[in-house]
Amino acid sequence: MKSITIPNHVEEINHHAFSQIQNIEEITLPKTIKKIEISQRKKYPCQFCGKTAVKRTVVGVWTCMKCGKATTGGAYTPTTPAALTARAAIKRLREAQSK
Ligand SMILES: [Zn+2]
Repeated sequence: MKSITIPNHVEEINHHAFSQIQNIEEITLPKTIKKIEISQRKKYPCQFCGKTAVKRTVVGVWTCMKCGKATTGGAYTPTTPAALTARAAIKRLREAQSK
């Protein structure tokens, strides 16, 4: 399993994504937030290896515990089209790892 190290510039983008999420929470009912909290702890199927082992590592970044591949997605679920700004950072992260 390949461990993922997150460089500082990725963290900056995640802060940006997180501020967007806070805005969403402000206009969302508490009941829905509870549901989101539960979904954060769930594991999701991996799009690369098919195992149900994808967990949220940081906001907007999902890492498969089986094959170690990281993917960007929603801050709370892998399928929500949120935190798209992290996508470019992950691409750079992958390029840095392959060196
Ligand atoms: Zn996988």
